[in-house]
Amino acid sequence: MMHAMTCVCGSGKSYDDCCGPLLARARQAQSPEALMRSRYAAYVLKDFDYIVETTDPDTTALFDHDANRAWMEQSTFVDLLVLASSEKGSRGNVEFVARFSRNGTDQTHHEHSQFRKHKGRWYFSGGETAG
Ligand SMILES: [Zn+2]
Repeated sequence: MMHAMTCVCGSGKSYDDCCGPLLARARQAQSPEALMRSRYAAYVLKDFDYIVETTDPDTTALFDHDANRAWMEQSTFVDLLVLASSEKGSRGNVEFVARFSRNGTDQTHHEHSQFRKHKGRWYFSGGETAG
């Protein structure tokens, strides 16, 4: 019998109580942070469709999905640290650091992401890399 898998997003919860039901499309993220964590989990588990599905339909055309998918496939994700998250009405922000390795080189991605609630669902609407 296997022990419950700890969620890959680093929340400390079990996968089944965290990002699992979201990636299974059994339920939707209840907060910008939950959505951000599930998108990280989707990168780890190479579920690129989830990334597309959770990108704001109003801004999805701005994203280079092919480049993003290639980046995902060439990267090994190490861990995620959520530094701050907030939500107000239909807007949310999450600041995070994700560590990954690519071509054997460890890298850090520090980002301020914006989220928007649209028809009752949270979507990723954009992000800026933090210096
Ligand atoms: Zn999780």
